[in-house]
Amino acid sequence: MNILIFGPNGSGKGTQGDLIRQKYNLAHIESGAIFREHIGGGTELGKKAKAYIDRGDLAPDNITIPMILETLKSKGENGWLLDGFPRNMAQAEKLWKALQKENMSLDCVVEILLPREAAKNRIMGRRLCKKNNNHPNNIFIDAIRPKNDKCRVCGAELSARNDDQDEAAINKRHDIYYNTQNGTLAAACYYKKLADGGRTKYIELNGEGSIDSIRDALLSKLS
Ligand code: FE
Repeated sequence: MNILIFGPNGSGKGTQGDLIRQKYNLAHIESGAIFREHIGGGTELGKKAKAYIDRGDLAPDNITIPMILETLKSKGENGWLLDGFPRNMAQAEKLWKALQKENMSLDCVVEILLPREAAKNRIMGRRLCKKNNNHPNNIFIDAIRPKNDKCRVCGAELSARNDDQDEAAINKRHDIYYNTQNGTLAAACYYKKLADGGRTKYIELNGEGSIDSIRDALLSKLS
C-alpha cells in the first residue's frame, strides 16, 4: 500500500498519518527527513542538494524527486506513506510521472480538509501541559479548552510554543498550502482528478472534528 497524505499545518496530519502508518505497517517517509538522510549520509544527490541549500536556495525538483524515489525504494518495500511532498502543482506532476516510470503504484491519496482560519487557530491556540505532552489543550477548540487557564486534564500549568505563535511563519506556510492555482491544494486536486480515472483511491476527511472522530472516519474509509 503506497499512500500520499495532504493537510495544512494545524490539521493533525501528523497524528492521522501515524495511524495510517500503523494500520498498514508502512514506512513513514517525511520530506524533511529525506533531505536530512541524503545530506547527512553524503549521497551524490545529497551533495548536490546541499550545494543549493548552503546558498540559501531550495533544491530543484530534478534533485528532490530522485532523492524521494530512492528513499521510497530503499525504505518503503512494504509500502510507504509520503508526507510533506509534493508542495506544488509542478511537483505533483513530476512525482506522478516518476512513479509511473518506476512502475510504483500510488494506491491512495488522503486529504485532510480544514479551512485556513481554523488551521491557524488550531496552531495558535495550542497549549502544552507542563506535566504531560499527551494532554491536549487548545484555547480555540471547545472540546479541549483549558480550565481556568490550566490543563483541562490534570490542572498543571500550560505554555505556548514560540513556533506556534509566529503568525508570519504560519501565514507563509499556509499561503503555499492554500494556493489552489499552483500550490499544494492544486497538487491535491491534480491527484483527485487522476483518482477519477480509477487508478488511485482519493479520501477526503473533514479536519474540523476531534482527533478521534477524524480517525474513525479515516479508518472506515480506508477499509
Ligand atoms: Fe495536563
